[in-house]
Amino acid sequence: MADVTLRNVSKRFGAIEAVRDLSLSINDGEFVVLLGPSGAGKTTTLRLITGLEQPDSGTILIDGQDVTREPPGARDIAFVFQQYSLYPHLSVYDNLAFPLRSPARRVPEPLIKKRVEQTAELLHISSKLKNSATRLSGGEMQRVAIGRALVRDPAIYLMDEPLSSLDAKLRAELRLELKRVQLELGATILYVTHDQVEAMTMASRIGVIRDGQLLQLGSPREIYERPADRYVASRLGTPPINFLPAQLLSDVPTPQGTETVGIRTEHLKIGKRNGGRLVGRVHRVEHLGEQNHVHLAYKGEMLVTLADPHQALDAGQDVELSLLDPLYFDAAGKRISATMR
Ligand code: ATP
Repeated sequence: MADVTLRNVSKRFGAIEAVRDLSLSINDGEFVVLLGPSGAGKTTTLRLITGLEQPDSGTILIDGQDVTREPPGARDIAFVFQQYSLYPHLSVYDNLAFPLRSPARRVPEPLIKKRVEQTAELLHISSKLKNSATRLSGGEMQRVAIGRALVRDPAIYLMDEPLSSLDAKLRAELRLELKRVQLELGATILYVTHDQVEAMTMASRIGVIRDGQLLQLGSPREIYERPADRYVASRLGTPPINFLPAQLLSDVPTPQGTETVGIRTEHLKIGKRNGGRLVGRVHRVEHLGEQNHVHLAYKGEMLVTLADPHQALDAGQDVELSLLDPLYFDAAGKRISATMR
């Protein structure tokens, strides 16, 4: 495996700046997830690394070698696409063997057999090797698609939302598997998704991307606890972070320059009313089994937080709210550190 570095890479399609001055290093053995909405430039970034697109400016290095002008075939990369992209007329075995049978690679058949069997075992599809690729469940098909990348030993694996077409249960299962496989192989992976749970659970580092720009890069914990700005803060967390204009919290001390207070569910506790400063009214309670989502009206704004399902809360009831170390943002939306004035 190897390091991959992008230095000030930009790519336009006519008027659209798909990728803007993007700099990013993926270290050997690291699992980096680019998290961003549709149109953020995630796929374009992957295509630039593979050589399927040429950047307008900037440099791409693989293992220290400048590959910016190299054709895709000369770059040692394996790509897993969103769609399974299997050969339907071939068996699972032959689908897995396919990348190793390319004339350029000339891998001997006994070695191919060994690699295919190892990969199938890693992905728990050994019993399906003889099946035709179409006679599989969706989850198995996606395992085969991932396996087709894993049979090789490239510098880096690039994965473009490979789990997004699966149902929630399978996605959760394959998330865990993919992380396990990556750790077992020590693989270097750049994975793109719009799914915050995938980013939080699999990434060594998350890069939050929007409009072709990398807004912040850091460990899942850093991104969650110390987001650079309001947008990054809003990308992670379920239910999403609440934003309140600071002037509505005039009784609560906030750092100098605070325009907006960012309140995640763990920053907002609901208590019995007993003369505290912040009073909200329960608007709606959603029962989700192990927890309740509580929607609260506070000075004309709506806030959502979590509550224990045994806490008695009824719509219309006034409750006392306490804030525990929320996040603070300035007028430009940048986070400011929590030194109280
Ligand atoms: P999604 O999650 O929907 O796949 P994405 O983050 O992968 O989105 P990209 O596919 O990289 O986004 O697209 C970034 C921007 O570049 C979009 O505005 C898209 O319409 C535009 N774009 C991508 N490829 C082309 C192309 N070949 N020609 C013109 N515009 C393109």
